[in-house]
Amino acid sequence: MSVRVRYAPSPTGSPHVGNIRTALFDWLLARHTPGGKFILRIEDTDRAREAPGAREEIMESLRWLGLDWDEGPGVGGPFGPYLQSERLDIYREQIAVLLAKGAAYKCFCTPERLAALREAQEKNKQPTMYDRACRKLSDEEVRRRESAGEPYVIRQALPSEGKTVVQDYLRGPIEFENALLDDPVLIKSDGMPTYHFAAMVDDHLMEITHVIRAEEWISSSPKHAQLYMAFGWEQPIWVHPSIILGPDKKRLSKRHGATGVLDFRSEGYLPDALVNFLALCGWAPGDDREVMTRDELIEAFSLDGVQTSPAIFDHEKLRWMNGVYIRQLAPERFVELCRPYLVEAKLVPEAADDANVEYVRSVLALEQERIRTLPEITDAVSFFFRDDYPFDEKGVEKWFRKHDGLAVLAAAESRLRALDTWTHDDMEAAVERATADLDLEKRAPVIHVLRIALTGRTAGPGLFELMEAMGRDRVLSRIERASTVLAAP
Ligand code: GLU
Repeated sequence: MSVRVRYAPSPTGSPHVGNIRTALFDWLLARHTPGGKFILRIEDTDRAREAPGAREEIMESLRWLGLDWDEGPGVGGPFGPYLQSERLDIYREQIAVLLAKGAAYKCFCTPERLAALREAQEKNKQPTMYDRACRKLSDEEVRRRESAGEPYVIRQALPSEGKTVVQDYLRGPIEFENALLDDPVLIKSDGMPTYHFAAMVDDHLMEITHVIRAEEWISSSPKHAQLYMAFGWEQPIWVHPSIILGPDKKRLSKRHGATGVLDFRSEGYLPDALVNFLALCGWAPGDDREVMTRDELIEAFSLDGVQTSPAIFDHEKLRWMNGVYIRQLAPERFVELCRPYLVEAKLVPEAADDANVEYVRSVLALEQERIRTLPEITDAVSFFFRDDYPFDEKGVEKWFRKHDGLAVLAAAESRLRALDTWTHDDMEAAVERATADLDLEKRAPVIHVLRIALTGRTAGPGLFELMEAMGRDRVLSRIERASTVLAAP
């Protein structure tokens, strides 16, 4: 049996990381298993809840993360169509089968009757559920009301005694008292199927082997198992991974920071980092590895490592991991990814000229080790591209004023100007000489004063590295500018 798994989102909004994590587990299982197939199915039968553009955003999120689907919208496949709204004939055919078997029935109860029923049950502290009144209607009565044009829904006729046992791959058998199960609506009064019906019919017809879906579906799972039984179909393997929580153990939401997959893209996360991070939300490879390439994840993935205890989404850890992935980028790729941010901040012109390309490359090389998300690059390197960078007041106070900054700059300038070549070692030697010229015991004041003068800041890349990147002319003119600007008390 080859693995066939599906990601079946409803297009009600842009995908949330919790939701896409399920797609990732599906994809990893499919790619891990020889011949495995990952199917995308859009569950768009609830037109009222459909958000404009959501379908595109679902596909865009998957594409950005590199979770390619073998069957589904845009790709086709032998089990299509893959949009539920295009499968209505199939649901009509299948509901007829269930009606003929007596496993489903038409229910003419009005919303008013159902509301009154619920109210009475609440008052009597009974479980609120449909009282199955229409299950007792004779065939004749059903025909009469139907031809009189009374609206109806079609409900599943569930057993009222005994237990339903759902075999969950991760959790083992889960037992449900049938007496507590409500006869679910399978077809709504507008003729559209509900999730309960359409998803099960599709999972069967699309030969899905493992239904991997969020934990919140466990409570509906006995209805789904019963539906498979009513049809006489073999059940898929049910897998309900844990949900993802925020660090405060509450359901992950906007309060905790970004949650939309595409929001992470605009916040400068790399897809490989997000994939690696999400894979570890609720799954563990069985050893202590954390940073894993896509191939390593595929190789190690197994449902046995999927956890049932809630996963915690730790944004800080994701930032850290993103930094790891940024460091692993080829330098040209790093430049390519950072450039749009620099252009947007007007630090570099849109059309890169040769001299500029070289400068951008050497400046960015200094930050690749340091930043954790791409937009951080703008602030990290802005001073390299602006000659009117501001001077950090505290830094000026601490280093420049306390150490006769003007004298330090003058000594450094003359030693630097005397250099024939402009390498890290040359500059280090020049700083040593300036330190001696100034009769200072340590070179730290020279380094700090120079850093403030050249960057306006107290922290950043190594001084000699940044001077090397800036080049001789820029360094000397900046020392001059700083001497003038900072000369005024
Ligand atoms: N359409 C359902 C949702 O988006 C799918 C759940 C499932 O995977 O079965 O929640």
